[in-house]
Amino acid sequence: MDVSLFFAGTGGSVPSARRGLPAILARLGGDRILFDCGEGTQRQLTRSIGLLDMECVFITHFHADHWLGLPGMLKSFALRDRDQPLTVYGPRGLNQLMAEMRIVYGRLPYELSIVELEPAETVKRGGYLIAAVPVSHRTQSAFGYAIVEDTRPGHLDPQLAEQLGVKPGPDFGRLQRGETVNGVLPEQVMGPEREGRKIVISGDTEPCEALKIAAHQADLLVHEATFTEEEAARAKETAHSTARQAATLARDAEVRLLALTHISTRYAGGQLRDEARAVFAATEAPRDFDTIEVPFPERGGAKLERWSERQARERSGGQTSEESATETDADGRQPDPLVHS
Ligand SMILES: [Zn+2]
Ligand SMILES: [Zn+2]
Repeated sequence: MDVSLFFAGTGGSVPSARRGLPAILARLGGDRILFDCGEGTQRQLTRSIGLLDMECVFITHFHADHWLGLPGMLKSFALRDRDQPLTVYGPRGLNQLMAEMRIVYGRLPYELSIVELEPAETVKRGGYLIAAVPVSHRTQSAFGYAIVEDTRPGHLDPQLAEQLGVKPGPDFGRLQRGETVNGVLPEQVMGPEREGRKIVISGDTEPCEALKIAAHQADLLVHEATFTEEEAARAKETAHSTARQAATLARDAEVRLLALTHISTRYAGGQLRDEARAVFAATEAPRDFDTIEVPFPERGGAKLERWSERQARERSGGQTSEESATETDADGRQPDPLVHS
């Protein structure tokens, strides 16, 4: 499946001319999932990729910069006659918050489910799961979220399979799906199962052990970097992280790419990115509307695409990420390069 994150808002606390409030739209195969919905999120989406009918919204915590866009968005969906159900997940307290918001969004023509998650609880979806990671941020209930793809079958050894009498083609596919072909068992010709991809989104947090464990060898860690190291004392006081702390955690967790977000209005992204890169080189600071695609590591791994680059690519008729979804096979898996070569 195709996996990417679209950064609808990369600011923190208050919006600036350049950065909207926190919102990240994840594309996971055919699913669209929004993480946080700061004030102005629907406008940010409308100005860029469009206000898509996402399936779920995950709220990290209840500071206003992370959810104030939600009632307006629920209402907009109603006004355009959405009928697809929507589920909002979040920490304990979500039911009460949504009840209080009800006065704003009123009756909805679609089914709205509200699910309070316990720390470490997982939500299983087709091909992946989302786990609530308890983080450390003043408020009782604050989560980061880990998106963990199901394991993938191992590599098929085509030479060995042929030696055992299996012809290349559909029979290789059957072996990969776990079927026995002409008496040849999949485990005879397939390597060990491979890890799926993992993306971890920190939400707001000071450096946090649980998050570091959850992010171990993640393909992408999106970590807040509200301050530079100069303001480390203020970061500690407000239970946020500095860019350097985010980078240290990324390095210790051996992630493949770190993306900094929740950038305070007082900084340029480059300043935070440079501070982080001194500790962990594979760091990016996405701006609003940038995308990070997360292909399998053997296909190059996570990579930032600037909004301007994406627009230029799409104008020139380059393959859009939506189109490349056709590359996946019926199981939603990327074709195995070994078998197709
Ligand atoms: Zn915040
Ligand atoms: Zn916060």
